Amino acid sequence: MKKISILGSTGSIGLQAAAVVRKYRNDFSVRALASSSNIEELKKQILEFRPEVVSIQSETLSAELKGWCRSKGVKTRVVSGDDGLVEAAEVNCDIVLSAVVGFAGLKPLLAAINKGRTIALANKEALVVAGDIIIKKAKSRKSEIIPVDSEHSAIFQCLKNENGGNIRRILLTASGGPFYRSKKPLSEITAKHALEHPTWKMGRKITIDSATLMNKGLEAIEAHHLFGTPIEKIQIVIHPQSIIHSMVEFADSSVIAQMSYPDMKLPIQYALTYPERRPSDVRPLDLFSVAKLEFGKPDFRKFRCLELALAASSIGGTMPAVMNAANEESVRLFLDGAVSFTDIPKLIERAMKAHKPLRNPALDDIFESDRAARASVVEGLRGLKRLKC
Ligand code: NDP
Ligand code: MG
Repeated sequence: MKKISILGSTGSIGLQAAAVVRKYRNDFSVRALASSSNIEELKKQILEFRPEVVSIQSETLSAELKGWCRSKGVKTRVVSGDDGLVEAAEVNCDIVLSAVVGFAGLKPLLAAINKGRTIALANKEALVVAGDIIIKKAKSRKSEIIPVDSEHSAIFQCLKNENGGNIRRILLTASGGPFYRSKKPLSEITAKHALEHPTWKMGRKITIDSATLMNKGLEAIEAHHLFGTPIEKIQIVIHPQSIIHSMVEFADSSVIAQMSYPDMKLPIQYALTYPERRPSDVRPLDLFSVAKLEFGKPDFRKFRCLELALAASSIGGTMPAVMNAANEESVRLFLDGAVSFTDIPKLIERAMKAHKPLRNPALDDIFESDRAARASVVEGLRGLKRLKC
């Protein structure tokens, strides 16, 4: 039986992971759960999985959850704040599913790696901001990282029994998001429009990242760190059907692809049951009904975020942390209705221009760059407001 800690258990990935654990309940024992504020879902998960420890971000909610556990006679230990999240990551277990959204996933990920745990990694932002540190630490602590992101799971599967030195290119597929073919000016897009993704049902932040194509930029950086492939050897391919989840081209010009209907339960389950493959609830692929698979090039001019992410990766050092933090803040402001869709790349570019990147940053430098970039976006917002007055 595999002991598992689910960080971000109440989110889109966390809930689907809980469904996988439920399906194979004799194979998994849930030792820890963590969320930000969704106390009602946590209560249900506590009753179902009886974990040893549960972390919730706020102190007030943790007091409420402690009282509720007592009233139900549940022995689960309730912890809170950033330290609580790290405690959930450090619980005695075999595999930690890192599915918290954003920069908040970095500290618990490093804590789990430090303990030598196997990581099922969904939280791409941590790798984007501190990929070099994470990969180095994972090697030294013998902590294996199994990707959950569907493209990276595909690449990971394509590389099974292959020599990484033979990779000529990674072909990273992208659905293109809801606006790839849209003629509507991007400046008119509201959060409601952008939250309607054509092929994937996901959390709010990644859904906006998919609409701006920032998600693909973050994923290119994620692939660069996970597979040790230079960023220039990662080619982004728009594939609207989302049937091929990514491909690898090798030195002999062979291209290996992984295909299925788009359903995150598949890569989540593969990461949790790896190295085994188990039957899943995903329906078998019917190529006759799919009929055609299309491929196109991304439009870097229309989707500026993609270009900014790739530029941040080429600059390296602390720049990806700045790009990521500025994106997180700008997306939050867009979802709150404070800035427009086209303001997102403007605010990111502003933060990147204001930053002097440090080479080979330590963790503290990354935290400081993250903080400064968030402040730069708030300042940039004031500038945008003045322009619009
Ligand atoms: P969601 O927003 O749906 O869920 C995020 C989860 O993290 C929630 O459980 C949330 O708690 C929790 N959380 C957020 N902040 C904190 C914090 N400070 N401390 C503790 N818990 C926190 O996101 P997704 O599930 O969509 O995405 C999670 C990660 O996986 C992201 O990095 C995303 O890029 C990646 N990913 C997601 C995919 C998807 O299909 N959704 C596909 C590939 C990658 P609460 O519910 O209380 O807010
Ligand atoms: Mg993905």
